[in-house]
Amino acid sequence: MKIITGNWKMNGSVAELEIMINAMQSINTKNKVIICVPFTMLGKKSDKISIGAQDVSSHENGAYTGEVSAKMLMDANAEYVIVGHSERRQYHSETNDTVKQKAKCAIESGLIPIICIGETMEEKQAGKTMKIIESGLRESIPADVKADVIVAYEPRWAIGADLTPTIDEISKTHTFIANILENMGLTGTPILYGASVNGSNAAEIMSIPNVDGVLVGGASLKPDNFLPIIESV
Ligand code: PEP
Repeated sequence: MKIITGNWKMNGSVAELEIMINAMQSINTKNKVIICVPFTMLGKKSDKISIGAQDVSSHENGAYTGEVSAKMLMDANAEYVIVGHSERRQYHSETNDTVKQKAKCAIESGLIPIICIGETMEEKQAGKTMKIIESGLRESIPADVKADVIVAYEPRWAIGADLTPTIDEISKTHTFIANILENMGLTGTPILYGASVNGSNAAEIMSIPNVDGVLVGGASLKPDNFLPIIESV
């Protein structure tokens, strides 16, 4: 069983989510399918797709205009939430510390956080990939976590760029992540690969040891692109 997660970013509509949910009825898969949608599309329920959000407040409740709390996400039938996506880190200056706070709020309310980590091109070129991954894991995951979390490794330079690391690079980073998680007492935490996954590369990427699934952006928006990824494994 693999975990195939879509990240719709700021795209789609309630009608398009309904189309995706209906299209899912036609496939028979043992994989876990999650779609993380904008807040306005939450509220839907499906026996084939779990719904998630793409961000959560680091506060429980109160005077934080425009923010949405973990409890509110639960109230809107979300089961998962992406935290620390590279676009949140880039455009909203989120740090590992912010991400940890958000993941903590999610866990305390019963949501499963999908915690994103990954290096920029500059960091890659400076040979800092493993260092960024290790600090991302140690600083973004709440230390005393007993609940389920999912980790998504997304090389930031490859997101939406139609390029991916080599199979050997993905293999090395995912093995490294699995070792750090083991060292943190989080053996068995699912590790997703994300960035430029599509119907042509999904099966090969998911055959790599320690790749427990994928986080898919652009190719998760339309059933014609997303369903082949789900059916590829
Ligand atoms: C993402 O934004 O999480 C992502 C993986 O995007 P894409 O698949 O479009 O590279």
